[in-house]
Amino acid sequence: MPGRKSWTGLWKAWRRPLLLPAFLLLIALCAAVLPPVGHVREDLRDLDLFSNEPLVRALLTRRDSGTSLEIGGPCRVRDASGSIVLEDGGRLVWDGRAVAAGKRRFEPPVAIAPPRGGTLVTLGRRYAGTLRLVADDDGRLLVTNRVPLETYIAGVISAEMGLHFPNEALKAQAVASRSYAVRRIRTRQRRAYDVGATQATQVYRGILPGHARARRLVAATRAEVLIYDGDVLDAVYSSTCGGHTRPAEEAFGDAAPAPLMGGPCGHCNDAPLARWTATVKLRAVRRALKLAAGPMTLGALRFHPSKRLRALTLLTAAGAREVTAKQLRRLLGKQAKSPWIAQVALDADTLLISGRGFGHGVGLCQYGARGLARRRKSAGEILGWYFPGADRARAW
Ligand SMILES: [Zn+2]
Repeated sequence: MPGRKSWTGLWKAWRRPLLLPAFLLLIALCAAVLPPVGHVREDLRDLDLFSNEPLVRALLTRRDSGTSLEIGGPCRVRDASGSIVLEDGGRLVWDGRAVAAGKRRFEPPVAIAPPRGGTLVTLGRRYAGTLRLVADDDGRLLVTNRVPLETYIAGVISAEMGLHFPNEALKAQAVASRSYAVRRIRTRQRRAYDVGATQATQVYRGILPGHARARRLVAATRAEVLIYDGDVLDAVYSSTCGGHTRPAEEAFGDAAPAPLMGGPCGHCNDAPLARWTATVKLRAVRRALKLAAGPMTLGALRFHPSKRLRALTLLTAAGAREVTAKQLRRLLGKQAKSPWIAQVALDADTLLISGRGFGHGVGLCQYGARGLARRRKSAGEILGWYFPGADRARAW
């Protein structure tokens, strides 16, 4: 048996040659334990809202009787009575009762699907899944895209944020958009569609360039939604909050859950519309509010706790007149980029207004998410910043 002295000698002789293998072993262990980039979190709670990935129905357009749809490529058109294949696409004419493709008439609901072996249908833009045509009570044709949720979310993050945004911001957007869509899928089953395709719900333009990358980012958060108090959170978002997100209650009037109470953002200062200005002539104010002519001065401004203007007072010969921020925004029209009016001044016959941000300002701030991602914050940290108190869970 070797004595104490020979053990020390062995260690001294082998210490240096062993350093490199030990270092490599440590790296291998780290790689095995730490999740790779884009890893799907397996530790999330299962909500089991759906047995599998659900389909979502996005309303693409509404058509009046006498108008037509131009299908840009091969497709199969089907109703309850049968189907035909249009090899080169073609015009579908809606007459208020049926959709005509040449001499063949189809009664809603009509499905337009890719032909055998195809994956996309072209209606101006390219869509995965199927297009479904249903009639509403007013004789209009609703054109919806029925598509797997994750494919839809890839389209939404491309259209809403743009793939030039950093990966972690796009992944946070995917979770917010999925949460929003899942809530609507669950509550609108009796309606003809779940979501629109414009800013009124979420912007969706089908399959866009860069779709494969968008799919990979969406796959990294597969099935993930935000939850609060046992329910999927209505994870709303807007372009640029202006520095402080707006409490949902202030914006929408209803009592809101804690993650939508608003809070400091501080990461969207470099957004194109972080600051904006607008003007309105006093005579336009007089006309809209039916005020008498005569001298007018600006009285007190009142603000919400979120620092957004609530109302201002105009002092006239007939007395003080309150103008709400909503009335003022209506007078500004498209000049008002957001509900955040930060300051108002009167210069001769013109009200000078300065505002902040773009969009309603509630929930996730997209440019703020970009700022946080550039500061190396993860999608989870971004979501935690804008929806404090919310958890992440898997919807299926
Ligand atoms: Zn912001």
